[in-house]
Amino acid sequence: MINIVYIGLGSNIGNKAGQVRLAREMIDKIRDLEVTRASSLYLTSPWGNTEQEDFVNQVIEARTGLSAVDLLYRLQEIEIKLGRQRNVRWGPRSIDLDILLYGDEIIHLPELQVPHPHMRERLFVLIPLEEINPGLVFPEDGVKLEEVLINALDREGNRGIRKI
Ligand code: ATP
Ligand code: MG
Ligand code: MG
Repeated sequence: MINIVYIGLGSNIGNKAGQVRLAREMIDKIRDLEVTRASSLYLTSPWGNTEQEDFVNQVIEARTGLSAVDLLYRLQEIEIKLGRQRNVRWGPRSIDLDILLYGDEIIHLPELQVPHPHMRERLFVLIPLEEINPGLVFPEDGVKLEEVLINALDREGNRGIRKI
């Protein structure tokens, strides 16, 4: 069974754009996975813990026959290869790879929640996702990405998120 997945990439240490590009290439080399679309890279203000450097973020779309959990493990291997060490939640990191959506599945495991629980609040996810799939609809409740994005922008403004 092939599923369409969306993965969020982020980096705020070192060569941020370089690490995001390298991570995308490494994701494309995962067996049984093919990257089908990639957003622009965006420079974004930190979320959650705001006393840290800006991030470079990207969202990619892929087709994969891997299960969601196997995909999570492959992404975690790439995070480790790219030198991710400190596991401070929302803290600085060389690379963060999060599964945003996995087909229409709703997953509540201790190690994996999909759709990603914070994605609807995060402009650094919503803006690049809209760039690659503006017609996307959330699987839990059928709400349109477009509406979620408009609401988030009304609430927060775009806080200087810009393409690089
Ligand atoms: P956030 O998940 O809010 O973006 P984070 O990415 O900084 O925070 P991490 O330190 O990367 O958090 O990951 C913490 C744990 O989150 C991981 O060990 C992983 O098991 C779990 N996790 C739960 N759901 C997901 C998901 N959809 N994608 C990636 N990791 C997830
Ligand atoms: Mg994250
Ligand atoms: Mg993460």
